[in-house]
Amino acid sequence: MASEFVSYVGRLISVRSVVQLYPGPYFKQMPRWSLRLGGASGNKKGVRAVSTVVTNERPTMHPAGPPGPVPVRQDFSRTQFAPVGRCIYCGSTEELCREHMLPAGLSGTAVLPKASCRSCGKITGEVERIVLRGHLWPVRIVRRLRLGEPHKAPKQFPITVWRGGREETLLLPASEYPILLHMPILSAPVAVTGERFTQGIRMTGVHIISFGPKPNDVGKRLGATRIQHSDTQQPVAFARMIGKIAYSYAVACVGLDAFEEVFVRPMILGTADDAGRWVGTREPVGPKRVGELHHLELHFNQEQRLLVGEVHLLADSDTPSFNVVIGRLRPDYVAPENSPLFR
Ligand SMILES: [Zn+2]
Repeated sequence: MASEFVSYVGRLISVRSVVQLYPGPYFKQMPRWSLRLGGASGNKKGVRAVSTVVTNERPTMHPAGPPGPVPVRQDFSRTQFAPVGRCIYCGSTEELCREHMLPAGLSGTAVLPKASCRSCGKITGEVERIVLRGHLWPVRIVRRLRLGEPHKAPKQFPITVWRGGREETLLLPASEYPILLHMPILSAPVAVTGERFTQGIRMTGVHIISFGPKPNDVGKRLGATRIQHSDTQQPVAFARMIGKIAYSYAVACVGLDAFEEVFVRPMILGTADDAGRWVGTREPVGPKRVGELHHLELHFNQEQRLLVGEVHLLADSDTPSFNVVIGRLRPDYVAPENSPLFR
């Protein structure tokens, strides 16, 4: 049985994993990492963690990707795209700014000029900040991804260790901190599965990816038998950020006018609490993409004219990627002959 959370906009849940140290090499232990999803965070404002079950199993997941995809690829070497001339979120033509498809805080360099108005930019910026200064912060430091305000980056991170039968919390410098990145496992987009949906997004677990020093080595050095890493996640904020990346990338590739309907705009702006309809983790986890920090891809389902984005952050590591059902293209949309997408 899968652990299950249902989270809603603005509410927090906590995800916790416990790494048992010794015996055996670190990587051989990975499949036996006990992954506990449970326990609401201490947020008094009312975390609603609905139906929480402890499990060691990865939940069985949804089909990999949208039905009948026609993969469309682009090498992501281009970083400058044509100006859009109106806000891709609200349509405003005033005070337009450039839009980073991938957040600058993840060293994203590709920009869409004149694509986001000031107020929409503020909303998407806040969502990104929740994620980038949340559970992605340590990995950004260790991977040296661009930190907007480096002086604000924590120099130390807390870690809980067990030694001599006692539990202690220590602060370790970022360079000595064994990062266990928790990437959320989000149920497949309901728009694809057709399951019943109310609101929010369903998070069924986390993929754990190790960065920096290995927990075993750190545990040995500290004389600890167990170390524990915990973080707080906001899966809705995460899904909104992923949705924004996929959508702005799609606009760069096919143009705003190609869309008959954009599904993800209200989710990105936070006016609809429907992230679970459009965003999900892609299963199974695909191969690493050597030499690519992040990888973006579009899939077009011709039958339903659905454009689905695939967002793979830290693609050179064993991270999962995410599907975003971005919207429906117009029936008369024809990809330009010279489009780098359709080759
Ligand atoms: Zn706007």
